[in-house]
Amino acid sequence: MVVNCVDKSNRLLYYQSMKCPTCKAEGQRFGTNRNGSQRFRCVQCKKTYSAPVTDRLPGSTIPLATVENVLQLLIEGCSVRSVERISGLHRDTMLKLLVAAGEKCEKLLGRLIVNVPVQDVSADEMWGFIFKKEKAMRSDDDPNYGDAYCFVAMENNTKLVLNFALGKRNQATTDIFIEGLRHATAHGRFQITTDGFRPYLSSIPNTLADRADFATLSKIYRATPEGERRYSPAEVVATEVVPVMGEPDPKRICTSHIERQNLTMRMQIRRLTRLTNGFSKKWENHWAALCLHFAYYNFCRIHRTLRVTPAMEAGISDHPWELLELLT
Ligand SMILES: [Zn+2]
Repeated sequence: MVVNCVDKSNRLLYYQSMKCPTCKAEGQRFGTNRNGSQRFRCVQCKKTYSAPVTDRLPGSTIPLATVENVLQLLIEGCSVRSVERISGLHRDTMLKLLVAAGEKCEKLLGRLIVNVPVQDVSADEMWGFIFKKEKAMRSDDDPNYGDAYCFVAMENNTKLVLNFALGKRNQATTDIFIEGLRHATAHGRFQITTDGFRPYLSSIPNTLADRADFATLSKIYRATPEGERRYSPAEVVATEVVPVMGEPDPKRICTSHIERQNLTMRMQIRRLTRLTNGFSKKWENHWAALCLHFAYYNFCRIHRTLRVTPAMEAGISDHPWELLELLT
């Protein structure tokens, strides 16, 4: 039986209607109990009753306070091993929890980030890897191993992450990514800026021709010795802007803006790579970590310059969400 589920401060997170214990008729919601749980009233005998209260989500044996703690630590970039030591949960249990949370977040994003009116969108790909780096791949390895780029599209004004995709840096992943972006954005006209990655040049005109003006912005880096480049970002000596489709407004392809954006993303992803590198031996874990990360970023984290969450700025939500709200 599914029952009232409350968090540690007695807020009702989840409930399911329970039939009347005496006459087995349907109950209707009838206010809340002092402990925050839902109360019901029988439609026949008018008696009121409440369902048992638990602090566990349906199908889970882990107390919500632990779930919240573990996910928070993972989001903040703690390694799975360190979270294992802090929480006392076995890492396999944690990874199951992460995958379950990731699935919830994926559905949530798919449900709420649709037909969003946007003005300026920028897209980028961030490198990551699963199990081993591409150069260490052998012919008999799982094709999911190796490079796993995360494609991200963000609205520049609201900072809302509109869509993301995980895969090899190729045409197939780009097509899936841009198709998802179409699903996320509303009919109105917007401007999209990407880097000079070639697959965009066919994918965006094929999929977004009716709604987007499109320009690419490529950076030309100063040549530096390999060692130097690894520890500090390469110096940008020039940028090249190429209008590709429609009439992109040159003022809105401003480089400082994009660079700031890229920095934000890189910093987010640094956390993410810390979250994933240590244990992303499986595609599913990596994907779940991304879903949780972006759902948390859009709905829970207060953006420093906006002072609200990106979802609030975009008019999708009216309050900063608690982490557990993502799961219910
Ligand atoms: Zn009754």
